[in-house]
Amino acid sequence: MKPNPYFAALQKSYLFIDIARRVSAFTEANPNADVIRLGIGDVTRPLAAPVVAALEAASREMGSADTFRGYGPDTGYPFLKEAVRGYYAKRGVRLDADEIFISDGCKSDCGNIGELFAADNTVLIPNPVYPVYVDSNLMAGRPIVYAEATRENGFLPLPDRGVKADIIYICSPNNPTGAAYTQHQLAQWVDYARGNDAVILFDAAYECFVQTPDVPHSIYEVPGAEDCAIELCSLSKTAGFTGVRCGYTVIPKALVRGAEQLNALWARRQGTKFNEVSYIIQRGAEAVFTEAGMAACMENVAYYKKNTAVLSAALAQAGIWHSGGQNSPYIWMQCPGGMKSWDFFDMLLDKAHVVGTPGAGFGQNGEGFFRLTGFGNAARTAEAAERLVKLLG
Ligand code: PLP
Repeated sequence: MKPNPYFAALQKSYLFIDIARRVSAFTEANPNADVIRLGIGDVTRPLAAPVVAALEAASREMGSADTFRGYGPDTGYPFLKEAVRGYYAKRGVRLDADEIFISDGCKSDCGNIGELFAADNTVLIPNPVYPVYVDSNLMAGRPIVYAEATRENGFLPLPDRGVKADIIYICSPNNPTGAAYTQHQLAQWVDYARGNDAVILFDAAYECFVQTPDVPHSIYEVPGAEDCAIELCSLSKTAGFTGVRCGYTVIPKALVRGAEQLNALWARRQGTKFNEVSYIIQRGAEAVFTEAGMAACMENVAYYKKNTAVLSAALAQAGIWHSGGQNSPYIWMQCPGGMKSWDFFDMLLDKAHVVGTPGAGFGQNGEGFFRLTGFGNAARTAEAAERLVKLLG
């Protein structure tokens, strides 16, 4: 047996494992330190009441012989697909139910979707970005080129006609930078993809944070995207489902490459390798899309947005360049005095007992930057903001 040689190209461990290791070493050495964690992008607000009620009702159904359910349909229950379809329809995006694939979240689909593509396709990935795109393509041995996201281009790289790519990852609103493409900018990527016979993988995990009117929630708001883009989305941030696990991937039937409908390939792939999200969870997810469910979820989103506003005000007071926040739960700040990301991580932990995420962990262009999240508790975030001002102001 020979192990997959491509694992050798990966960083030794996943970013958040490195962070956890450093934080636990610090807390062991300083057991009385009051550490505030604004590092990992995990939510903290509880599930919305309508979602909990739906989960409870579905659990009771499973406990009764006449309503018990075993294996569900491969690609998701029709009731949830209908709910997702309705959500898109509100933005003027028309989808067929069989263009929607219910998943256990966006991370697994972001990693697995590569199985649709031959190994010798060139992948274009923004730098910095959510590490799963790079790592999953490294594991598959696919050649990667990077779209440089910098402070100068607002961390929103646009297509370079001189670069030939077959698969393009776009994350908007972006993790970690919080930057979000406008309709006009996304249209340039759609043009590029169509001109190159490429496919865009659009990660919309943070779409619920979009508030700027000309920033699309979905790539399908851009005309022509239906024949060149796959959209991956999640209820993790929209509805606090990070521990519940449910998302959806959209593959329009119009998306055809080499005479193959990618929708049919993914249906075949899921039929072989995935046995669907549990009925109970899909009922909970359905409740997210009800009027009451969505209103309650948006209250949590507003709570997180207030936190980012508090962090942003503190950094402004301290005279630190930063962006994000507007359409995202993330604040992306420049490390003070030209410090490197991990050096600032250590200093912030040591001097202010605040944990953030080093930008360098998201790619080379993240070096010298740092990510803070609004996903924490409001009072603790306000406390962290005060400590930031004290340390940096
Ligand atoms: N995509 C991006 C850009 C993310 O930041 C995350 C989680 O942090 C995910 C996908 C994963 O989401 P899920 O919880 O649905 O797997």
